[in-house]
Amino acid sequence: MRWTNFTSGTPMRGLLLLLCCAWLTVSASPTHQQPGTTPSQTTPRPQPAPQTGEKPRPAQPEFFVLIDAGHGGDDRGAVFGGKLQEKDVTLSLARQLRSELENRGISARLIREADSTVSLEHRADVANAQRTGVYVAIHAGAPGSGVRVYAALLPSAPAAGRFLPWEAAQSNSLERSKAIADAVAKELQKTTLPVARLNSPLRPLNNIVAPAIAVELAADPNEIHVLYSAKLQNSVASAVATGIAKSRAQMGTQP
Ligand SMILES: [Zn+2]
Repeated sequence: MRWTNFTSGTPMRGLLLLLCCAWLTVSASPTHQQPGTTPSQTTPRPQPAPQTGEKPRPAQPEFFVLIDAGHGGDDRGAVFGGKLQEKDVTLSLARQLRSELENRGISARLIREADSTVSLEHRADVANAQRTGVYVAIHAGAPGSGVRVYAALLPSAPAAGRFLPWEAAQSNSLERSKAIADAVAKELQKTTLPVARLNSPLRPLNNIVAPAIAVELAADPNEIHVLYSAKLQNSVASAVATGIAKSRAQMGTQP
């Protein structure tokens, strides 16, 4: 797996301010041109007052799950059986998960679509710059077998103030992250796979503002090929998608 654990030397960063979308509505009232006048001389027609007195509500941003296939490019991650690379397992499972989420009516995006190198900082930056509903990191590694589901474990209570430190960006979403991880683990337990539910100070989970979990396939040394099997990946992707969908339904419009 070779995740980078949180260290106190991590640079501080202020939270990214989420960009607000402003909808600019252009009135399409027709222009009436009187004889002898030019369009610039016409008087705008008074707009009728809204009958309900309610202000139009801003459009809800689309909820989507951001899937982060661990490793990639120069970073192979773990290597199984001398040739099967973690970066390929994670990308395959990420694509499966996107498909399963979309089958359930949930939009999903991948941070990397190909075998490309992406730093942990950039993965967190991408998640924080977008209106990510739920972030899911995908990994595979030893020891053990089955699936491990993680939420973040923050190093300490963040200091009170306007800005959260970079290493504690997750703090405001941590309870939701744990609830989603619990729901995902519950669905995985319906399969025949061993399931472990853990909290761990793993990057980039700690650096992500949105609810964030990680799913790790564990490799049985005697059955390495199973990691890449369609059966296992379908089973895991389906359970993770169902867990996320149920969490979202329970939380209403909140991710
Ligand atoms: Zn990994």
